[in-house]
Amino acid sequence: MENFDILKHKLESIHGRDYGAYQALKGEYDYSQFKLFIDQIPKDPYAPPHTGRYRVIVKNGFINQFNHIFNTKISEIAFRDFLARKFYDAALKKSKGRRGTGNSGIITIAKPGQAILERNSVIVNKEMIEVRFFIGLPANGRKINSQICQAMLFEEIPKIIALALFPENLDMRDLEQHIKTAEDAEYVRSRLASLNLVVFIADNSILPRKSGVSDQPLDINRVFPFKSPESLRVEIDLPHSGKTKGMGIPKGITLIVGGGYHGKSTLLNAIEMGIYNHIPNDGREKCISDFSTIKIRAYNGRYIEKVDISAFINNLPLQKNTTQFSTDNASGSTSQAASIMEAIEVGTNVILMDEDTCATNFMIRDQKMQKLVEKDDEPITTFIDKAESLYSNKGISTILVSGGIGDYFDVSNIIIQMKNYNPIDVTGKAYEISRSTSNKRVYEGKEHPISINERVPVKNCINPYNYYNKKSVYSAEINRIHFGKNIIDLTDLEQLIELSQTKAIAGAILHINKYFDGKMPLKEMIHKLMCDIEKNGLDVLNNRASGYFAEFRGLELAFAINRLRALKIIS
Ligand code: ADP
Ligand code: MG
Repeated sequence: MENFDILKHKLESIHGRDYGAYQALKGEYDYSQFKLFIDQIPKDPYAPPHTGRYRVIVKNGFINQFNHIFNTKISEIAFRDFLARKFYDAALKKSKGRRGTGNSGIITIAKPGQAILERNSVIVNKEMIEVRFFIGLPANGRKINSQICQAMLFEEIPKIIALALFPENLDMRDLEQHIKTAEDAEYVRSRLASLNLVVFIADNSILPRKSGVSDQPLDINRVFPFKSPESLRVEIDLPHSGKTKGMGIPKGITLIVGGGYHGKSTLLNAIEMGIYNHIPNDGREKCISDFSTIKIRAYNGRYIEKVDISAFINNLPLQKNTTQFSTDNASGSTSQAASIMEAIEVGTNVILMDEDTCATNFMIRDQKMQKLVEKDDEPITTFIDKAESLYSNKGISTILVSGGIGDYFDVSNIIIQMKNYNPIDVTGKAYEISRSTSNKRVYEGKEHPISINERVPVKNCINPYNYYNKKSVYSAEINRIHFGKNIIDLTDLEQLIELSQTKAIAGAILHINKYFDGKMPLKEMIHKLMCDIEKNGLDVLNNRASGYFAEFRGLELAFAINRLRALKIIS
């Protein structure tokens, strides 16, 4: 470890030189109150942040005040998430931002969103706190600017660290609130199954978001807070907030109906995001869903590799086998069927669908259509005729938003109408309408039970090397992973919320590659990897202290692998 004066010397000696001379700064420097590690420096000022590796280590000054933090995994995650946010804010406040070419002058950390996630930008143990962040070493053109660099390394960074990581500068009540919020949410999720519920939404939750591109809550003055219908109201005693009332959605089939623009999709979105613990003041802190809840949608053009979709689709033209269905270019209905089967394969308990993003011919064949087109001429058995057996045979619940298909009354256990953003239990009324309607569609779901193939990937079928034979795996957008010669399109994975999750999934695919031995089923690989992460943290995905990973579920990892066009499954 070198004295930080040495860093000053090094910096003076490279002023005005070509950017490559920055490599001389690599090393470990003792700033007395913290230690700075410059592990890897990008080759040019335009290189994306994840190509650099900069860390600080400070003594864990919180330990005496927050002994309990290390008692549970969830409180530790919340603590780390809190510090990452403080660092992000402090860097915005104390650094002067972009100065020079490319990323010159920027000091930042992977940006946290509205959920409290395990992230490897902040690592803590009893002795120390390590923060992995980004320093855009400054240049004019490609020439090193030592003066700005001096200001960054010797003024801004110490200020940021003091503001974000020294206990005396942090509001301990905020920190406590952060941890308690996560613990309450986690508690509700852990209680759902024993209460026979899949979703809980507390009264007074704020569901709508600021805009289609912002995950922040809509301005409080424009919101109708959530209020449970009396018939669905349950009370849960939370460890910190105490007795809390809200709407419980039971296991089974739930239909959300209502006029256009009355808040149906907003409710479903909150349920989708209920797999996460939200930060205080998000509005959805107590909107909780079963951890394995998956949103399914149609997505034309996706890749499918040997998925058994025969429960839904049979007798395709040209006799395409649907027990091992493959395509480079799925239709709306086949994409939706495959996504459902892939989710069941890796263990979902709850499927969410919104008519806004479903293939109509996958959801329903109504009475008139049944009369016109005979079942023998229709390859699709629509979801309406499978939803009940999905629950009774596989224990998988469905929550469906549909303002348009009244036939679903017949298969739903609960029907909720959104009216002016208020949920109303209209189950009785809907059943009455069903009973008094004489012309009914014919049930078509008797044949082709839901069966899951154990899918074993072909040995070494995926390959991280690109056309230049260079290992190339990265992600610069939340729904896109570059993996060797392929691009994985994750547009239809609507439950990803941060780029750091996508980066971690990319790392996970690279890592899981070693299990592709031609014997291990996909499900088992995913399970193994997720256990490894659970036990040893996200760093198992990359031994070079990355700081750009956030937690994800095995479900998303499976979905990403299933969309990798190189994936081959053994017949
Ligand atoms: P639907 O799916 O029924 O057509 P949406 O859920 O898309 O309707 O909601 C329509 C609009 O109303 C959206 O802009 C949404 O942000 C807003 N909105 C939804 N719920 C509320 C609420 N509780 N309070 C205020 N605005 C809301
Ligand atoms: Mg909608």
